[in-house]
Amino acid sequence: MANKIPRVPVREQNPAVRATNFEEVCLGYNLEEATLEASRCLNCKNPRCVAACPVGIQIPHFIEALKAGDIKGAADIIARDSSLPSICGRVCPQESQCEGSCILGIKGESVAIGKLERFVGDWRLDNPQPASLPEKNGKKVAVVGSGPAGLACASDLAKEGYDVTVFEALHQIGGVLVYGIPEFRLPKKGVVAKEIESVKRLGVKFETDVIVGRTVTIDSLMDSEGFDAVFVGSGAGTTTIYGY
Ligand SMILES: Cc1cc2nc3c(=O)[nH]c(=O)nc-3n(C[C@H](O)[C@H](O)[C@H](O)COP(=O)(O)OP(=O)(O)OC[C@H]3O[C@@H](n4cnc5c(N)ncnc54)[C@H](O)[C@@H]3O)c2cc1C
Ligand code: SF4
Repeated sequence: MANKIPRVPVREQNPAVRATNFEEVCLGYNLEEATLEASRCLNCKNPRCVAACPVGIQIPHFIEALKAGDIKGAADIIARDSSLPSICGRVCPQESQCEGSCILGIKGESVAIGKLERFVGDWRLDNPQPASLPEKNGKKVAVVGSGPAGLACASDLAKEGYDVTVFEALHQIGGVLVYGIPEFRLPKKGVVAKEIESVKRLGVKFETDVIVGRTVTIDSLMDSEGFDAVFVGSGAGTTTIYGY
C-alpha cells in the first residue's frame, strides 16, 4: 500500500540557530501542513494504528475531522481517550506504537500521527474550552504523584465526577515531564504548564511538597481525611530523594 503524497516534512530550527539556544527543536506543523498530512490517511476500516496506541485514541476519526477543517472536533475526539495530547504528540515513541503499525508504513511512510496529534493538542491549549463536567458523585480520590500517570488518572476521574486531590512530593507538578525530559524536546512553560492548567480546569486540586509515606500516609488519607481510594503513581525514581 503506497500513498502518492509523500509524508509532509516537519519544520525544525535551523541547526546553526539551534546550537545557540535550548528552545524546542521541532517546530511542528502549521494548518496547511497538518491538513495535507491528514489527507494521506486512508481511514482504514480496521485501523492498526488504534490497536497500537496504548490509550486507544480513535486516530482515523480525529484525522478525518482535521482533514475536514474541524480542529475542535478533532480535539474532542482525542480528548475522549487522552488528557495530554500535546505532551504525547511530542514524546510518545510513535515510531514503535501507532505510526509503527500504520498500513502506509509497510511499503512507504506512515502517517505522521504524532505530529498531527501535537498540532491538534496545541490548538486546544491555545483555545481552551470550559469543561462540561458531570455532577460530583460524592467520592474523594487521592492521587500520589503528579507525573503523567497521576495527571492522566486525575483528569479521567474528574471527568467521571470524582473529587480528586493530587499529592506531589516535590515543589513542582509534572514529575519527569518537568525534571527529566529536556526543554528542547518538551517545553515546560509552553506545553507542560498549559496541560497542567487544563487538568486544573477540571477541578483537580494539587498539593505540592507532600511526601505520602512521611508528611501523610495512605492510612491517614483513607481513615482521617475522607478519601475513598488512593491511586499510587509515584513513578520509578529513586526513593532516596524523598528521604525514605
Ligand atoms: C530523562 C528521561 C527522559 C525520558 N524521555 C521520555 C520520552 O522522550 N518519551 C517517553 O515516552 N518517555 C520518556 N521517559 C519516560 C517517562 O518520563 C516515564 O515513563 C514517565 O514519566 C512515568 O510517569 P509516572 O507518572 O509513572 O512517573 P514520574 O514522571 O516519575 O512521576 C512520579 C511523580 O510522583 C512523585 N512521587 C514519588 N513518590 C512520591 C510520594 N511518596 N509522595 C508524593 N509524590 C511522590 C514524584 O516526585 C514524581 O513527581 C523519560 C524518562 C527520563 C527519566
Ligand atoms: S493505519 Fe495509517 S492509514 Fe490506516 S487509519 Fe491508521 S493512520 Fe490512517
